[in-house]
Amino acid sequence: MTFSNTRLFCAMMLVAGLGLPVAPASAQGPGGAAPDYSKVEIKAEKIAGNVYTLRAFGPDFYPSPNGRPSGTIGVLPGPEGVFMVDAQFAPLTDKVVAAIKQIQPDGRIRFLVNTHVHADHTSGDENFGKLGVTLIARENLRKRLALPAREGGPLPAAVGLPMMTVEGPMTFRMNGEEVRIIPIQRAHTDGDVIVQFVKADVIMTSDLFRADNAYPNMDLANGGSLAGMLEGLNIVADMASPRTTIVPGHGPNVTWQAVAAQRNMIVTVRDRVAALIKDKKTQEQVLAAGVTADFDKTGLQNPARFVTQLFQELSK
Ligand SMILES: [Zn+2]
Repeated sequence: MTFSNTRLFCAMMLVAGLGLPVAPASAQGPGGAAPDYSKVEIKAEKIAGNVYTLRAFGPDFYPSPNGRPSGTIGVLPGPEGVFMVDAQFAPLTDKVVAAIKQIQPDGRIRFLVNTHVHADHTSGDENFGKLGVTLIARENLRKRLALPAREGGPLPAAVGLPMMTVEGPMTFRMNGEEVRIIPIQRAHTDGDVIVQFVKADVIMTSDLFRADNAYPNMDLANGGSLAGMLEGLNIVADMASPRTTIVPGHGPNVTWQAVAAQRNMIVTVRDRVAALIKDKKTQEQVLAAGVTADFDKTGLQNPARFVTQLFQELSK
């Protein structure tokens, strides 16, 4: 997700009791400038078996310095049509479709599952819906996607909303693969799913696990939670074998050890924040206490959001 994400901002303002928000600058990038999608290149990578990822690279996007995150897409091509995971930003749809055609020459995309609400994973949904792709998501996520993106703005087109909703584990058998969609109750958001490609031994984690330069994001305004985040990381780590390729919502692929390490980091910082709350420290004092200092050295940036989320969760 990005800090300037429309739907994140929406929910934050709603929680603040202000009703639907004034439209934020959702198209703006670092420094307030709109990202230049024309400079983005979508790169496909074969991960394992017949599973590919598509990632966006460009000057306004991670891993460029100060670049914003952009969600990783998963693609399972084959004779029964493409199964894909997440849709990326809407202005990138043409490039995403072109990249898929390099993998699946007939370009037939059959199913698209959204892993959570943030725009770098869902804003292309309407474009894919118009191409005849069946969209799939959790019911919670569909409800969020069905909200107007901005105050007084139009309701999203029905063609861009998930046609199928999933509340429990769901399996697709297609293209010689077994694809499992597994809801994770309330982790990064309240609409998270992870996606497992059983034969290829690949798990896509959504943003409940990230391997870029940012701390985890329990997006409380979109229904995320600390307990759910830890549970989700445990589920992923437990599902994985030493050979499993884990594809994060952001950042390079990893193995289960990285997922376990992130869980341990969260637990360590959580315990530090909890101790300070027990000592009656204020949010400002906790933010100033350097509870992430040792982890900041590993390159993780902007700990304030993470520590604030922990403070808010633990002081409930
Ligand atoms: Zn996200």
